[in-house]
Amino acid sequence: MTSTPIKTYSNLIGGEWLASKSGQTFQNINPADHSDIIGVFPASNADDVALAVAAAKKAYATWRLVPAPKRAEILYRAGAILSERKEQYARDMTREMGKVLAETRGDVQEAIDEAYYVAGEGRRLFGVTVPSELQNKFAMSVRMPVGVIGMIAPWNFPMAIPSWKLFPALVAGNTCVIKPAEDTPLSTYNLVQTLIDAGLPPGVVNIVSGYGPEAGAPLVEHPDVRAISFTGSSATGSLVAQRAAATFKPVSLEMGGKNAMIVMDDANLELALEGALWGAFGTTGQRCTATSRILLHKNIAAEFTQKLVARAAALKVGNGLEDGIEVGPQVNDQQIETSTSYCAIAIAEGAQLLTGGKALTEGSYANGTFFAPTVFGGVKPHMRIAREEVFGPVVSLIEFSTFEEAIEIANSIDYGLSTALYTKDINRAFSAIRDLEAGITYINAPTIGAEVHLPFGGVKQTGNGHREGLGALDFYTTWKSVYIDSSDTLQRAQIDNAE
Ligand code: NAD
Repeated sequence: MTSTPIKTYSNLIGGEWLASKSGQTFQNINPADHSDIIGVFPASNADDVALAVAAAKKAYATWRLVPAPKRAEILYRAGAILSERKEQYARDMTREMGKVLAETRGDVQEAIDEAYYVAGEGRRLFGVTVPSELQNKFAMSVRMPVGVIGMIAPWNFPMAIPSWKLFPALVAGNTCVIKPAEDTPLSTYNLVQTLIDAGLPPGVVNIVSGYGPEAGAPLVEHPDVRAISFTGSSATGSLVAQRAAATFKPVSLEMGGKNAMIVMDDANLELALEGALWGAFGTTGQRCTATSRILLHKNIAAEFTQKLVARAAALKVGNGLEDGIEVGPQVNDQQIETSTSYCAIAIAEGAQLLTGGKALTEGSYANGTFFAPTVFGGVKPHMRIAREEVFGPVVSLIEFSTFEEAIEIANSIDYGLSTALYTKDINRAFSAIRDLEAGITYINAPTIGAEVHLPFGGVKQTGNGHREGLGALDFYTTWKSVYIDSSDTLQRAQIDNAE
């Protein structure tokens, strides 16, 4: 792999590919094989961000005037081009962040789905028309674009998440500066290249790659950036929100999770088992919606635990590009350190390590960042392993006696993204839908598997009230109320019609 020359990528600013002003770069490395360098990318700073924001501001002057159905046509074309390139982009993504090919194909598919879904909005973007309280007066409201939007993305869905941000922002008439995660810039480049090939004018989307404090923070602080869309950890999201508050920028925050799956004693246990394995170890546990707590009714806990541990221990861990691999590497050394340290914390807290619990470093694992699928039993709700996000293939089993107790445990954390209940009792299912404090609840399905045309986001420390998918346009547009008076007189609302 190292024999082919390493490709050098540039920032995209105003339609031109430019090196960072400082000349600094960083390497994009395959987490399954550290000898495989995918590319060299600009390590940008505030100077590059300023250029990109200026380009986006200039492009906004004309892009906002392009009729929305025309803007949407570019998204339709982008969806079609993404379909043609799906396999190549999926392979690039597995190479840069590790998850298995079936999942990276799904990630590209999500961007395709988002393109078609949002393109339909080009002919809607509905406002409301209402009767005025005065005669000969017309009242309506229209959605206006916001301006230049700054976007900061994580690495775990490196094409899907940028598409959730870029596509609705574009159809609404905004221009964008996106900073991809430092582990996964290539998938954002592939997505934006697709938009360019679909006919997006120069400057409408700009890419500035680099590290968070150097390239992300200046984007948040730039006075010409009108709003920030951030997805990442709650710790970083808090910093972003505080910085943005200084200039009153609206911020959409999509952050961490500690998602619970509840398995009742009347559940289809085989189905719950399949759901648990997929929810906990899909994407190597590195999903914001990953199943990281499994709450087991005491009547089925022993049987379920024994089966889950056997299946988790048998999962095939390896390079996601290879056939038959079920769990890819973790994205980088830092994630391995986090998983390792949480295993030590769990053991010190008194949880029982039932399988896994360590990095895999021998043989074919030696060149990558692999971690064994890990199950902890005997976990109590107060333990840190039951409350804090690990973001790795580590799942905690917690036993409960009653449905009400399970709901209480599920809700007892600071996060509120996704939840799942396995039961055949329809009444309990509806109680759970009502009582679980989360943005998403699945019944008889795992905590992962969101579709683009529903609202996506969470409550408590997972989010600040905005939604991607259905609801994204509420963030990427601002309302304008319009009154048209055709009476040829001064009509004073609340005064002339008060009698
Ligand atoms: P992270 O917070 O470390 O980084 C996210 C992004 O923020 C990166 O692009 C990073 O460069 C940037 N950043 C870092 N410091 C910054 C700063 N000071 N100012 C501005 N930007 C900065 O998160 P990550 O490790 O990339 O992603 C994993 C996290 O993302 C997990 O907590 C996961 O739950 C969360 N996540 C949430 C969702 C969701 O929709 N709720 C989806 C995917 C991932």
